[in-house]
Amino acid sequence: MNGGAVLARHALLPDGWARDVAIAWNGDGVITAVGATAADAGAAAAAAVGLVIPGMVNLHSHAFQRAMAGQAETAGEGEDSFWTWRELMYRFAGRITPAQLEAVAAQLFVDCLRHGYTSVCEFHYLHRAADGAAYARPAEMAERVAQAARETGIGLTMLPVLYSHGGFGAQPLGPRQRRFQSDVGAVLGMVEALDRLRDGQFEVGAAPHSLRAASMAQIGELAAALPPGRPIHIHIAEQQLEVDACLAHSGQRPLAWLLERQGLDARWCLVHATHLDEAELAALAASGAVAGLCPSTEANLGDGLFALAPYLAAGGRFGIGSDSHVGHSPVEELRWLEYGQRLRQQRRNIAVSPVQRHVGDLLWQAALAGGAQASGRPVGALAVGRRADFLVLDDEHPNLAGAPADEVLGRLLFAGNDNLVRDVLVGGRRVIQDGRHAGQAAIAARYRAALAQLRERSP
Ligand code: ZN
Repeated sequence: MNGGAVLARHALLPDGWARDVAIAWNGDGVITAVGATAADAGAAAAAAVGLVIPGMVNLHSHAFQRAMAGQAETAGEGEDSFWTWRELMYRFAGRITPAQLEAVAAQLFVDCLRHGYTSVCEFHYLHRAADGAAYARPAEMAERVAQAARETGIGLTMLPVLYSHGGFGAQPLGPRQRRFQSDVGAVLGMVEALDRLRDGQFEVGAAPHSLRAASMAQIGELAAALPPGRPIHIHIAEQQLEVDACLAHSGQRPLAWLLERQGLDARWCLVHATHLDEAELAALAASGAVAGLCPSTEANLGDGLFALAPYLAAGGRFGIGSDSHVGHSPVEELRWLEYGQRLRQQRRNIAVSPVQRHVGDLLWQAALAGGAQASGRPVGALAVGRRADFLVLDDEHPNLAGAPADEVLGRLLFAGNDNLVRDVLVGGRRVIQDGRHAGQAAIAARYRAALAQLRERSP
């Protein structure tokens, strides 16, 4: 692939908005220059565009759940909760085949790209066949997701999940969890197999599923054995019931226990981290780890609200994920994140700092930085050495009419539901043009066929 360049009337750079910015990248999709003119950027013929912002990182995804989004919104017999939703999810996870997973993941990635995500971290635990047997190639299901990412052009960090137990204290797995079964050796085997696919678009880390599903000794073993610098993600403190079970088992709250036993640093992403006390919140902020917030899923599942304001005040890092894929847009995640805080505190404009008074700018830039860190990939900024992952917004849309640059993200996040993402480039390759992906019709047809098969096989 050849390199390329654009000349943006306004571009969001790491230190804020800049006017008339040329951005050039090489044939590997890496930004080589960001300058005031095309000549400064070393680009002879740069295409002129209007508003350019870095593409967002989606730091938490379970791709297969795209196919069940919106299907758990009917009340059951008793009180519905995360735990009753999980039963539906397990039934669904029990049926999906490798080819169906690839079809569902491709649809998800097109959805994500169209709405402005340019990379995703896949928290992947569907390791085995429906009967619990290992596939001939143990990384088969992960490779299917990687293939869908390659086909659609989205960047991917694959996180094979360590899932050994059905609850605290090394409880045995339930029958519905046998597809997820893995031990440290199996996860490291998958990491090794997937490492052969590593390139500018693809990175590999690992993820102990949770303190419920992996023992503290296993988590330590995995973290120590992973190649240096690779991201480690874990679900933590999503539900009050989980906090209570952790207290009963260890005498400590989940994050406090993990912090004491493993330490936490910039390699770690703590997904959800919903139920933290003040000391845990401060410790997480001080650790340099990223809180992986998934506001639309956390709302859908009735998890609770992350305490954003004190966390930001303490210098905490966060990124966003669409997790169960009830939403496919960073706009929805960031809007929910801010609105949840406003509803709780009964005031406005929560995500600000002494140096950044624009809520949209703070949210987008902070989620980029945290998401990039959690992905372990050089993304998240229009800067030399980073991937050329960026969005061209539709500056002719009424929602952006007359907007000065520092109002653009406020309008993007807090005005209506039209998709203002016009073009998307990932690694310098244009994957969305005028709101469309070149493969979207074929990918949607495969997705519909996969969904029909999954429904046929429903009990
Ligand atoms: Zn999750």
